[in-house]
Amino acid sequence: MSKVLIHICCAHCAAYTVEHWRHEGYEAGGFWYNPNIHPFTEHRQRLESMQSLAQQIDLPLTVAADYDIIEYFRRVAGHESERCRYCFELRLSKTAEAARLQGFDAFTTTLLISPQQQHETIKEVGNKIALEQGITFLYADLRKRYSDSRHITKPMDLYRQQYCGCVYSEWERYSNTNH
Ligand code: SF4
Repeated sequence: MSKVLIHICCAHCAAYTVEHWRHEGYEAGGFWYNPNIHPFTEHRQRLESMQSLAQQIDLPLTVAADYDIIEYFRRVAGHESERCRYCFELRLSKTAEAARLQGFDAFTTTLLISPQQQHETIKEVGNKIALEQGITFLYADLRKRYSDSRHITKPMDLYRQQYCGCVYSEWERYSNTNH
């Protein structure tokens, strides 16, 4: 059976995404690497939710040792309006690297289920990293299953975030503006 390492952005996007790839015949592993989630206490809350989900759906979850918040800001500084591309590159390249080192056949991301994310950019970045690192990027447009994923986690009473992750997105969320 082929193995896919799934980059996990949060428990609520992971729930259906894991089901999807299992249904497609893959053995799934999860990979947590999100230096874009600020502040650190928010990052910890989202990670704890994911660890709880992983136990409940029997998903082996690797948590990257580093939080790398400084690297995140170094990458986006000076081009904040295009920050999501740099954010995806940072997270997906680390996932591809972990997938290769751990003997997975492919990598993908739960970001592909979110209608709030820049879907085409994620696809483009994933394919570019696949070429660079010589490992398959599994693409699927799962956006129609976004609410199904949230229905799965609803009875689990897991923490639900109110903004994408970075301080810029928190600012946009609570000031109701786009910068
Ligand atoms: S809005 Fe979300 S995807 Fe974009 S840079 Fe911030 S955390 Fe990353």
